[in-house]
Amino acid sequence: ATLPYDDQNIFAKILRGEIPATRLYEDDYALAFPDINPQSPTHILVIPKGAYVSWDDFSAHASDAEITGFVRAVGTVARDAGLVASGYRLLANAGLDSHQEVPHLHVHIFAGRTLGPLLA
Ligand code: 5GP
Repeated sequence: ATLPYDDQNIFAKILRGEIPATRLYEDDYALAFPDINPQSPTHILVIPKGAYVSWDDFSAHASDAEITGFVRAVGTVARDAGLVASGYRLLANAGLDSHQEVPHLHVHIFAGRTLGPLLA
C-alpha cells in the first residue's frame, strides 16, 4: 500500500514556492533544482508536479501524459546541463529499505565525477 501524500513535505513546499530553490527547469509536469547537500559536483533533483509519494505511487497512478512529461523532463534537464557527453547516473529511492527521506517522488541526477560502483 502507498502512504498517503503529505502536502507539507519539503518538495511540496518548494513546488508551491514556500521554500526557496533554484529552479533549473520547469514545465507543466516537472521541476528541477539542485540538491541542497550535493553528493557529486552536479547533483540535481527532478520531481513531478503531481502529488506522488514514490516511484510506486507514480507508476501506478499517474496519467500517461504525466509519466511521459516527467521522463522527458529528466532527459531534458541532463541534456541542458551538458551531462550527456561525460555521462550521468539516475537514482530514485522508493520506500523504507531505500532510505527515501522526502515523501515526494524525486529522481536524483548525479554527474561531474567518476561515480564508482552502484551502491558505494
Ligand atoms: P532521498 O534520500 O529522499 O532520496 O533524497 C532526498 C534529497 O533531498 C537529499 O539528497 C537531500 O539532500 C535533498 N534535500 C532535502 N531537503 C532539501 C531542501 O530543502 N532543498 C533541496 N534543494 N534539497 C533538499
